[in-house]
Order: sequence, then C-alpha cells, then structure tokens
Amino acid sequence: YKVFDVLEIRKDFPILNQTIHGKPLVYFDNAATTQKPQSVIQAISEYYQEFNANIHRGIHTLAEKATAEYEGTREMVRKFINASSTDEIIFTRGTTESINLVAATFGRQQVKAGDEVIITTMEHHSNIVPWQMLCEEKGATLKVIPINDAGEIILEEYEKLLSERTKLVAAVYVSNSLGTINPVKEIIDRAHAFGARVLIDGAQASAHLDINVQELNCDFYAFSSHKLYGPTGIGVLYGKRELLDSMPPYQGGGEMIKEVSFEKTTYNELPYKFEAGTPNIADTVAFKKALEYVNEISKPVAAEYEHELLTYATESLQEINGLRIVGTAKEKISIVSFVVEGVHHQDIGIILDTQGIAVRTGHHCTQPLMQRFGIPGTTRASFAMYNTKEEIDKLVKGLHRVVKMFR
Ligand code: PMP
Repeated sequence: YKVFDVLEIRKDFPILNQTIHGKPLVYFDNAATTQKPQSVIQAISEYYQEFNANIHRGIHTLAEKATAEYEGTREMVRKFINASSTDEIIFTRGTTESINLVAATFGRQQVKAGDEVIITTMEHHSNIVPWQMLCEEKGATLKVIPINDAGEIILEEYEKLLSERTKLVAAVYVSNSLGTINPVKEIIDRAHAFGARVLIDGAQASAHLDINVQELNCDFYAFSSHKLYGPTGIGVLYGKRELLDSMPPYQGGGEMIKEVSFEKTTYNELPYKFEAGTPNIADTVAFKKALEYVNEISKPVAAEYEHELLTYATESLQEINGLRIVGTAKEKISIVSFVVEGVHHQDIGIILDTQGIAVRTGHHCTQPLMQRFGIPGTTRASFAMYNTKEEIDKLVKGLHRVVKMFR
C-alpha cells in the first residue's frame, strides 16, 4: 500500500462485507477485538491442512516445519516491540494471562508483607484483580494513581505514592474505556528511581502506537494478538531477561523442563521455562500474518488515518443533543466513549445494532474507572484502520434516531 486506501484495506477483511438486520455492518467494537484479514484466516486453515504437528520435540518434517513457523512468530514479535532477544518473548493466551503470570511468579517471589503495588484508576480488571489477589495473599497494599476529569493520570499524585515500599507499578499504556494514551515513559522512569519494577498493559496500545520496549525500558509488557488483527487465544509477555531468569516458573509440565526425576526437576531455558504444555500453535503461526499485515500498511500511516476518524467522530458527535464524551485527554487513540442524557447505554447499543452498527456498552471491564466518573457505563465506539467517515455519519444518524425515540 503506497498510499493509504481504506477501500482496498476493507477488501482484506471478509467479515466486513455483510449486512446486519438488512444494513451494512458498521464494526465499531475494535477495542474489544479487531477483525482479521484474509491472510490470517487462511494461515489457520493452512496450518491444519499442511503442517499440523507438535512442536520442539519431533524430528520429522512436519514437526520441524511447525516449530519453524511457531518460532518465526516469536522472532516477528521480537522485532515488532524491539526486544533484544527472543528469549524475552513468552507466548501466553493473552494480556490477562501475561499479567497473571507476572503476579504468580515475580509477584509471589518479590512482594512481601508491607510492600506496595501501584496501579492507575483506569486499569482494566485484568490489571487490577491479579494484584489485589497477590496483595491479599502477601499482606501488601494496592495503591491507585488518581486521574483528572479529562481522564489523564495526575503525575504529581503518582510521585507522592512512590516510595521504597513500591515493588511494582502496573499501568495501562492506552485506556480501553477512554482512549487516553498514558505517559508511560515518565511512569517507568519515576518507578525505577525507587527501585520498583514496571509492567505495562499494552493490550490497546500495540495496534496503534509504535512499541519499543528497550526505549521504554519497561520490565514487562503484555499484549494480545486478537486486538492486533490476529487470532484469539494467543498473546505475549515481554520481560527483561535477567528478571525472567530469576523468576520461578508459572505452570509445571512438559516443555518447561530440562530434566525430571521424582527427586528433582530442573527447568528449561528461556522462553520455554514459561511455556508448559502444547501451546496454541495454529493461532501463533497465524499471528505472524497479522503482524506482517500491520507492518505492510505501516502503523504510523494507519494511526494517522485513525486519528482523522477520531477527530471527525469527536466533532460529529457534538451535534447530538445531551451527548457528553467521557475521556477528553489531549493524547488519545481512536476511541470515543460517551453518555447520552436520559438514555441508558444498553438501549443505545440495542438500537444501533438494529442499524447494523456494533458498539460496546457498559463498564468495559473498568468498573472503578466508571465509579470515578460517577456513571454505570458508557457507549464506546472504537475505530480501526478499516473504518470510514461514512460509517461515523451512520453512527451519528443512528444516535439521532435513539434520541428521538427516548425523548
Ligand atoms: N487490558 C486492556 C487495556 C484491555 O483492553 C484488555 C481487553 N479488553 C485486556 C487488558 C485483557 O485482554 P485479553 O482479554 O485479551 O486478555
């Protein structure tokens, strides 16, 4: 793609070419999961048709091919986030499992009674609950960085929370509910000054921002393939090698061992130490195609287009009487969350669906964030590179209809 051509891009996503309740599908639920290009869909069936075999152990041709493809994705992921070695790329089921892995290994090993873990007000439940469970188990304390009314972290308040007791800061790079891009570099540097480690939840960031874990200098970085045009059931945990080396394993089983006897087991090298059992080979292989797709389009080019959509939507939605956008940070990705006076978000979602428009409604797995804004939930439209301004016009039209019905 020499020039960004959204109509060409749309052709790569077969699911978009359908009608819902007789209307062309408008898919605005990309923050929940993105659609998959044909190359990804094809890679899954090719794997099962042509080289399905268990990896790493076999010496036969299919096993070698499957292993090479699986490890090829690992190298692709390494490049995608600029990690220094594939030893630092652990495959998991997704962001949630990546965070739980860190809590169960690094967390259990390092966090003691009286220690503190810091998160932000805008965390997804998957970056809250594992830390709560850990703190409860250890007698540690969970601290929360407050945000302002625009949905931005208040860095001065963050500074006040940091101390020698801080063992870990776990922060979301981009809020799935508000679209806010957090100043993660500052968050990381300030935590390091106190000797704390930092985990970045990159679930939403990875499809929109260029990710460079070495430059960020984060200790852990978690993300999911399915929010990045890839399959579900596969995700990544990046960790600094010296940390991963010193951490105990996560699950025990095949693949993660060097030698097993009934008396003692020694563990495999990185990254296999953290990958017990037969992994999700098919989806991992197909994930590579998703990353190739994103690289081919070029993330900055797609991001610029998505930003145009964000600006257009933010302006267009102003014409809806009683609509208020929740999350007005200066730095945002293409997510608009809003409430409409006198209309419940669930009713908005149902009526938009009759127009073929798919949005997310509710708390978006960020209940404490909703409490901060004093609302039960929002309607969220999240845009990907295949969305268009014409689709945003349809959303606005649909919302006019909603308002007419309920007022
Ligand atoms: N963090 C954020 C910011 C997210 O948006 C999501 C997915 N909604 C997750 C974590 C969890 O990701 P997954 O369900 O793929 O594990």
